Amino acid sequence: MNYDAFFADALSRLRDERRYRVFADLERIAGRFPHAIWHSPNGPRDVVIWCSNDYLGMGQHPKVIGAMVETATKMGTGAGGTRNIAGTNHPLIDLERELADLHGKQSALVFTSGYVSNQTGIPTIAKLIPNCLILSDAYNHNSMIEGIRQAGCDKQIFRHNDLAHLEELLKAAGSRPKLVAFESLYSMDGDIAPINAICDLAKRYGAMTYLDEVHAVGLYGPRGGGIAERDGAMARVDVIEGTLGKAFGGLGGYIAADGALCDAVRSYAPGFIFTTALPPAVCAAAAAAIRHLKTSTWERERHQDRAARLKAVLNAAGLPVAETSTHIVPVMVNEAEKCKAASDLLLTDHGIYIQPINYPTVPKGTERLRITPSPYHDDALIDVLAEAMVDVWQKLGLPLKQHSLAAE
Ligand code: PLP
Repeated sequence: MNYDAFFADALSRLRDERRYRVFADLERIAGRFPHAIWHSPNGPRDVVIWCSNDYLGMGQHPKVIGAMVETATKMGTGAGGTRNIAGTNHPLIDLERELADLHGKQSALVFTSGYVSNQTGIPTIAKLIPNCLILSDAYNHNSMIEGIRQAGCDKQIFRHNDLAHLEELLKAAGSRPKLVAFESLYSMDGDIAPINAICDLAKRYGAMTYLDEVHAVGLYGPRGGGIAERDGAMARVDVIEGTLGKAFGGLGGYIAADGALCDAVRSYAPGFIFTTALPPAVCAAAAAAIRHLKTSTWERERHQDRAARLKAVLNAAGLPVAETSTHIVPVMVNEAEKCKAASDLLLTDHGIYIQPINYPTVPKGTERLRITPSPYHDDALIDVLAEAMVDVWQKLGLPLKQHSLAAE
């Protein structure tokens, strides 16, 4: 049996479909974010990163680095095993308190990633509810889809952010227990869910709500509690799920909810029980980022300011920016090969790194460059990016919009 051939065939299928992914070999430079070194095939080169989900640059914040170094120095590196075996390291307790407070919930439970939080949290919750029906937004992230699949219970998909469709399904489900699973901010299109209206429906039809705030925590709301905090809906959502790996600049994920729910997930979720806990230094760094962002609004304000500026400059340059009300700036290419080529040219000709977003992350024909400005992308960097993108668009024969007079 030629086992290697199975893998080689699988890879050639991806190459044929232009879906084979290549990761850039990057070295971030603390204190100089968004500048980084690209270890290119021709040697190291300075580049500017424009697609990081370290949205606020907290991964290089002195308080966060300080907390990580100090804790590792005091407590060592690893967690020493699962929480079942090794107990809970104290910085993890501190972090869970910080998270419960951030979301105004009784409790929080930390997992090793946002992915794992959804993948093990959703099925554990759903399996503990007899005869549960999960209603899932059509654009939910893969981690939620996998979690729902593992739940093994009935599921129905409602059209993305479509309240009428959700209501239709809720009504048809009658009095059985229901869990509505959705995201607050969809990271590829940058649009936002009507959280309060979904909570209204959930209340009317007796459903629980599970909200993924992965792309919003730290970034929205007066204390960085996310879109639900911004919209005054945190107390109405039953389970808030988030990540420590994006705006908080570290690694890990969590749910925040009532004490009994978190305790039940702690007691039943395989993806919680059977894996080594986050190391103390990682927990301390995340807690430092969360604490900082609860009171400092500079990062959030500057982040929104940069996103607005970037959208205006790219639009004025005639680039096809998809309209969003958030910090996500998708520039549409709508063709897989040209999307990859645009990303390659930006890197090789201009030292700008923006990962192409192709199928299956987005539907075929909607390929894009997904740009995520941070507080540290200044006006000069934005201008350089716009010029570089126009150059690349022209080289690839991609359409540019007519310049508007107002932008001239
Ligand atoms: N949920 C959503 C909506 C995501 O986009 C992601 C990852 O990008 C995750 C969950 C997983 O979070 P993490 O990166 O912490 O595993």
